[in-house]
Amino acid sequence: MSQERTQWNVAQLLKEPIGATRSFELLATVLPEDAEVRQATPLAGQIVMLRTSQGVLVEGALDGQVIVECSRCLRPVTLPVSVALEEEYRPVVDVVRGVYLPVDEEDEALLIDEHHILDIAEVLRQAVLLETPMRVLCRPDCAGLCQSCGKDLNDGPCDCLPADSDPRWAQLSALLEDVDI
Ligand SMILES: [Zn+2]
Ligand SMILES: [Zn+2]
Repeated sequence: MSQERTQWNVAQLLKEPIGATRSFELLATVLPEDAEVRQATPLAGQIVMLRTSQGVLVEGALDGQVIVECSRCLRPVTLPVSVALEEEYRPVVDVVRGVYLPVDEEDEALLIDEHHILDIAEVLRQAVLLETPMRVLCRPDCAGLCQSCGKDLNDGPCDCLPADSDPRWAQLSALLEDVDI
């Protein structure tokens, strides 16, 4: 059974020869619940870790569902999302000698920390956001919200006058109707 997991202690893998692998089935929830894009389901999939000369290459594919707001009416819309991972993580500590290794100025999300913990949460979070479209409609013909009163026009028209009708003209034409020209 898969379990919610984004961190692994890779000390043992780092002691093994180049080419050694591990594979894991996992579930991952990486977006906060109050974020603009939320997860409807955890990401689910498999990752493979491969010992390289520099560290650990992580490859994997995960699928899940996200919830975003409709760009017009702000109703929640659930979308499928798929992410592919291929990142090499580097240790900050030599696992055999226990000394700190020189680390170039690189992405902190790709460092294996001094406790030999490899964490894929940040990389997954960025990948999900990258795969989530910026503009989403709940349906192609979503009517959106009234710009004046904010009513959801998918539920029917509001009582506002059409935007191109000026109430002063409406009064004037009402007056004119009483005048015989
Ligand atoms: Zn909508
Ligand atoms: Zn309105």
